[in-house]
Amino acid sequence: MQDEPIFALDAGSAAPTVRKGNARPAVPKDVQVRVYFRDGWLCRYCHRPVVFAPALKTLAKLVADAEYPRAVAYYNLNYRSDLAPLLDYQAATIDHVEPWSKDGEHGEGNYVTACNKCNMKKSNRSPKAFADEECGKPVKGKYGPPKDWDGFVSVFLVLGKDPGALAASERDWRKAFERYLAERDAIGR
Ligand SMILES: [Zn+2]
Repeated sequence: MQDEPIFALDAGSAAPTVRKGNARPAVPKDVQVRVYFRDGWLCRYCHRPVVFAPALKTLAKLVADAEYPRAVAYYNLNYRSDLAPLLDYQAATIDHVEPWSKDGEHGEGNYVTACNKCNMKKSNRSPKAFADEECGKPVKGKYGPPKDWDGFVSVFLVLGKDPGALAASERDWRKAFERYLAERDAIGR
């Protein structure tokens, strides 16, 4: 069963750096996790907070398991606007700054966190053209950027403890988060 959004840049274990044909190589989950945390789980284009989609899936499961009698539009594999409106706008995605189709480098330095909407809108335009047309300048908040926003990763980790209840890709995400957070704890950040 497919258990990843159809347009997610999902992970194999290796990090291919050599362009082979026109296929866009998958971005390893460990790399995606580093990019999301590096960017503070904020969209680099519109600066809005993004959310980790599988966390919304665990929330929907929590509600269903508690026999809440109504449907909740928290999660849908394809981030459909009618079935998962938050993900339609704010799902965390990895974007190539220089588009892959225009010879963008396939490496960590060329990846940024983007909300689903910006990623869809940006398509293959150059980052500057996109930023000029769509995004404008960062909103300067009175309080500065959030320090502890994690895209609901904590929800995913706390609610998704039973490996048997997780899809294979979710177990891989768990491991990638645990590795990243353990490293970060070890260096005291
Ligand atoms: Zn955005």
